[in-house]
Amino acid sequence: MAWNHVVRPIAEVGWTVWDDEARHRVPRTLDQMIDSGRLFCSRPKCPERPAYTYTYNYVTGRRGRVSSQRRHLCAKHAELVCRDYGLEVAR
Ligand SMILES: [Zn+2]
Repeated sequence: MAWNHVVRPIAEVGWTVWDDEARHRVPRTLDQMIDSGRLFCSRPKCPERPAYTYTYNYVTGRRGRVSSQRRHLCAKHAELVCRDYGLEVAR
């Protein structure tokens, strides 16, 4: 069971990645994240550029712990998720 489905455009801010040579986290733009293959559409074999984040909550295990999941989706797959769950893209 999953709920709290939210689809929103990927924010440009806040990306950092670990740099092995510099030995600290360095800022990256969205384009750099995509170019380096760190960010991609979560749907299998989808080659499209991710443009949205899709987050939701779900229950794991018998104890019913609540986890949250974050996926990145291209425009087409974001649209499909919105249609499946009757969502509007959040601003
Ligand atoms: Zn896709």
